[in-house]
Amino acid sequence: MPFEGLASRLQNVFGKLRSKGKLSEDDVNDALREVRLALLEADVNFKVVKDFIAKIRDRAVGQEVMKSFTPGMVVVDIVNKELTALMGGAQSKLARSNRPPTVIMMAGLQGAGKTTSAGKLAKVLKKENHRPLLVAADIYRPAAIKQLQVLGEQLQVPVFALGDKVNPVDIAKQGLQHAKDNGNDYVIIDTAGRLQIDEALMEELKNIREEVKPDETLLVIDSMAGQEAVNVAQSFHQQLELTGVILTKLDSDTRGGAALSVRAVTGLPIKYAATGEKLDALEPFHPDRMASRILG
Ligand code: GDP
Repeated sequence: MPFEGLASRLQNVFGKLRSKGKLSEDDVNDALREVRLALLEADVNFKVVKDFIAKIRDRAVGQEVMKSFTPGMVVVDIVNKELTALMGGAQSKLARSNRPPTVIMMAGLQGAGKTTSAGKLAKVLKKENHRPLLVAADIYRPAAIKQLQVLGEQLQVPVFALGDKVNPVDIAKQGLQHAKDNGNDYVIIDTAGRLQIDEALMEELKNIREEVKPDETLLVIDSMAGQEAVNVAQSFHQQLELTGVILTKLDSDTRGGAALSVRAVTGLPIKYAATGEKLDALEPFHPDRMASRILG
């Protein structure tokens, strides 16, 4: 379960607050202190926590809240709204080009779940009656091309591959042309990852980007990596002008720090959340639903 620790701690704090008839400023401050600790323990970025708590304090410690009949519930409602805003507010939908095909470039570190997410995204699009094409431009990781081909077969989605001896920029370019020639309205390009960010990787991604001019450049990040994942997102974004994030392994992330920090730190919307290894485990990310889930 994602956010296990955080959810139970916050539900505990707000349970107490809700049951109180009247609230004093001290009650609110005590609760906020506990919320702050819970967020830090969930590995949320320190500055993000600080700003978040300040916003809630501004709104919660006021005459109107204190005088309401159910002040505890008003405070919880404020927290719910701020938590939703923290994760991006409204749901951010996948771009759709007026001049198909819509090009989606996937980026991320090795092991983040890039190839799997490319397959899952193809499945989502296929279900919406689109005709996606997967392009295998990760020529470095052994078996990445094969992995994509196997996914394609399972999903009945075509995979464009030219082996591992052709330059990834050329693969991406020819893949795009292939989509145009074959009436594919979405192209999902699986690019190479590395264990760490390095210049050669960034150069290659930039070159692919310039060649195919993607409508979406999505960074796939492993939510289990917590703040480290957010740092990775920031470095990629500085170099690549990302348009969004796919957060993976939410099913195994018991803390939630990446989900709660990445939007505030990078400004990037979380477009999808992956919650398992299976191909149907990809959902559009809804900040409001996630906030409600955390607050119970
Ligand atoms: P890539 O190197 O970024 O392309 O990573 P892969 O797509 O090969 O994924 C790496 C591993 O993470 C694989 O074993 C996947 O099955 C697993 N994985 C990917 N997404 C998820 C997820 O949302 N939840 C879980 N539990 N595992 C995932």
